[in-house]
Amino acid sequence: MPAARTGSRVSAKSQKVKGDSKSLKRKRDQEDLQKLQNDVDEFDPKPENTSKFSTLPISKPTASGLEASHFQNLTDVQARAIPLGLKGRDILGAAKTGSGKTLAFLVPVLEKLYRAQWTEYDGLGALIISPTRELAVQIFEVLRKIGRYHTFSAGLVIGGKSLREEAERLGRMNILVCTPGRMLQHLDQTAGFDVDNLQILVLDEADRIMDMGFQSAVDGLVEHLPKSRQTMLFSATQSKKVSDLARLSLKEPEYVAVHEAAAAATPTTLTQHYLVTPLADKMETLYGFIKANLKSKMIVFLSSGKQVRFVYESFRHLQPGIPLLHLHGRQKQVARLEITSRFSAAKNSCLFATDVVARGVDFPAVDWVVQMDCPEDTDTYIHRVGRTARYERNGKAVLFLDPSEEQGMLKRLEQRKVPIYKVNVREKKKLSIQNSIQDMCFKNPDLKYLGQKAFVSYTRSIHLQKDKEIFNLKKLDLDAYAASLGLPGTPQIKFQKGEDIKKLKNAPRAGLSSDSESEFEEDKKKRKKGEVRTKYDRMFERTNQDVLTSHYNKLIGDEGQAANDDDDDDQDFLSVKRVLRGDDLDGETSDGPAPGTKIIEGLGGEEPFVVDSKRREKMLKSKKKMLKFKGKGDKVVFDDEGVAHHPYKIQGEEDFIQDGSAEAQRQKFVESEAVKVKEADIDDKQLAKDKRREKKEKRKAREAMGSEDAMDGMPRLSGADDGEDPLALLASLPMPGEDSGSEAEEERRPKKKAKKWFQDDSDDERQKVKSKKGKGKVIEVAEAPNTLEDYEALAAGLLED
Ligand code: ADP
Ligand code: MG
Repeated sequence: MPAARTGSRVSAKSQKVKGDSKSLKRKRDQEDLQKLQNDVDEFDPKPENTSKFSTLPISKPTASGLEASHFQNLTDVQARAIPLGLKGRDILGAAKTGSGKTLAFLVPVLEKLYRAQWTEYDGLGALIISPTRELAVQIFEVLRKIGRYHTFSAGLVIGGKSLREEAERLGRMNILVCTPGRMLQHLDQTAGFDVDNLQILVLDEADRIMDMGFQSAVDGLVEHLPKSRQTMLFSATQSKKVSDLARLSLKEPEYVAVHEAAAAATPTTLTQHYLVTPLADKMETLYGFIKANLKSKMIVFLSSGKQVRFVYESFRHLQPGIPLLHLHGRQKQVARLEITSRFSAAKNSCLFATDVVARGVDFPAVDWVVQMDCPEDTDTYIHRVGRTARYERNGKAVLFLDPSEEQGMLKRLEQRKVPIYKVNVREKKKLSIQNSIQDMCFKNPDLKYLGQKAFVSYTRSIHLQKDKEIFNLKKLDLDAYAASLGLPGTPQIKFQKGEDIKKLKNAPRAGLSSDSESEFEEDKKKRKKGEVRTKYDRMFERTNQDVLTSHYNKLIGDEGQAANDDDDDDQDFLSVKRVLRGDDLDGETSDGPAPGTKIIEGLGGEEPFVVDSKRREKMLKSKKKMLKFKGKGDKVVFDDEGVAHHPYKIQGEEDFIQDGSAEAQRQKFVESEAVKVKEADIDDKQLAKDKRREKKEKRKAREAMGSEDAMDGMPRLSGADDGEDPLALLASLPMPGEDSGSEAEEERRPKKKAKKWFQDDSDDERQKVKSKKGKGKVIEVAEAPNTLEDYEALAAGLLED
């Protein structure tokens, strides 16, 4: 019980009282709590009161947890936000990356529940939302560290496990760290999980959580939560958007912006550079960079998972001499956790990653942040570079820009107070790897396939970028870029929207679709004069078609649609198209019908249907597609002989005039039909709603039955039950042991992982850990696999490396 932990503070007065020791203790606890509450109410957040954690009005368990984790002095944002948080205020917190925002909300969370004497029977008291799984795991780790002397149960809800497994444990959790989508799923579907008691809601990286991507999940989630609660929002790029505040129903929030007046939006310990390197040289520039920094720990940010995979795979074959890792959202959960912990522990390593780790993640001691692909906006830039130079440490960052991106991006960075300086790549340091990559692609079709996908996803991402002052696909040399990825030709890309369609279709077909000599010649002309041509160059050109066909068949189905492997997202705007023939250009035939063309008239539409291609022939089979050639249909009436007439033809002229003008009749008819349609619509909607509700009720009933069964057989929240499922993504905070909870907690961490989130963890703590073994209580997030499924997932993850 939480209250039991306060027993250590004994006042002189209570010592004198004799009687039943239990009720005495309870009384003392109540008194302590009251005193703590008074301290909080009266606390004056002057600088001298807020420089050390020991001077804050916080409970003993929190104070001890902070001390054991070696936190003594508060950072600026902590000094400003914690006192307000303790007093129950809603907070909008903005402070630079790496400035300690996590503790700024975790301390108030623990204290709020502590002062409310929260127990496992009170249900969910605090909810902390993170935009990514990686960040959620990390917040959870910090919570476990500083909350080790509390008795709350805490869990992670981030997906990657079956909903049911997570659901079983949810009901007993006091604090949950979650990602929005997964949490909403539980709130909607998990029977018996109620959040009506929630005291405090935290959004870390709040601006990200409030933006488009998570909009519906967050709105759905907030709908479930009680309105009377404390809410705290934190980010390095916090916005004060009124609409967001309304969506979360914040009450007179305090705006805590510690670095608002700072000269730079990024940490002062961070050195930032950019270099201009044409898209086609990026691979070589990056390779040269890595080779020149083999003794560092670096993160290389790329724009998509496919980019990450291709660069990782090709560099792995080149063996630069530094451990390479890669991370993106499509990896299995086990692999993602494994990779983040490996990178955390690594001394020298290069991690290729997408923006899944751009925000919040606190990898220790990162030397370099390299942005190989330009970030979509300055916020993303600030968060990416924020993975280094954290908490008073130094760090360096470098941004690669194509010449076409330079001006636009610099302007944006300047507007946001980002101090960045230009550097040049030393010619000596440039390493030519294009031939090696071509060679690898030639020998390894899988790699080439990855390269093609990387190409498409990169061009697509540029096409989709909102900031057109920076990103301009037309200015990029795509042929040279394709060659730099080792591709034998430039994959043809097709825009489904935008003005470029025509231009692309009319452009000479290069690479893929080139099968005639003349096109080959054109291709050749484009290459730089005097360039040394290898045997492979020629082979690529010669075998172009054959090499690519099988993979492109995989990529495109009959209709030219991307096959549904793992890249469904490629279909939206750009897709690889095999050959563009004239018949794809509807309506561009100018010299009358070609031989073999069929013309079908009398379908009812305004124009006849011309069958001049296979595609059009196919259309004949589709009723839906043919609709537009069939016209709207006429109303007819049959006379006594069974001949059809338009109604007005058989109606006497007088009758017709009596009914009103043609236009009025039309109007009347349209109105009466509209009413019918409206009625039918209401019925349909009701029907659909009923069906949905019925389905949901059935599911909930099923779930309820299931979870009752599960609950019956479930052990209580203590030792034994937590040992049974090491991979569970739910874990509970330890119950404090008789002597030292910290040791008990530490020793349960997997020994194989030297996971070190804190730079200043002293050795003696680890020493103590070693000396005490056994008695595992807490589920570790990424421990040894348990089930066959887990092994498979792990194996897949390891294989991916
Ligand atoms: P932010 O969320 O602002 O980016 P974090 O909360 O992740 O920053 O903290 C950044 C780093 O600073 C972490 O490694 C954390 O352990 C460390 N840190 C935070 N607060 C303190 C403190 N008061 N004293 C020492 N180190 C701290
Ligand atoms: Mg953070």
